[in-house]
Amino acid sequence: MNTLLFWILLIGLLLILFQLIIHGILAFLETKGRPQLTPDMVPELLKKEKSKLGISEKIIKCRFTKKKNSRISLENGIYYINFGTKARDLTVKHEVFHVYREKPEHINRKGIWLTIRYFFWYENRAKLYTVFNIKI
Ligand SMILES: [Zn+2]
Repeated sequence: MNTLLFWILLIGLLLILFQLIIHGILAFLETKGRPQLTPDMVPELLKKEKSKLGISEKIIKCRFTKKKNSRISLENGIYYINFGTKARDLTVKHEVFHVYREKPEHINRKGIWLTIRYFFWYENRAKLYTVFNIKI
């Protein structure tokens, strides 16, 4: 096998492995021992997180879905947090950070390039903030 190709494949595999490990650790820290999110907890948590990030003026609506994971969406200029069944109290903080940090066109990610960027960058950035309050 071509040596250059070998190194490209090896580095690519290591990057994906590293990503999966980081993703797993942060997801674990984010949910370990946290209370399950219920609709009555949302208004206060939402107000607190918006105020902390200085985006109190943004309209963010919330709904509970039967999907496992939570995700943010932007519909006619209104942000929606679609809470999944795995949602915890910290999920509000995580999703509000997506609203704060990501450009509107990145919220409803379309195409492979945005999906890759989301998985490798936006999601970890939001998790770092959720767990460690690190804003990058
Ligand atoms: Zn996220």
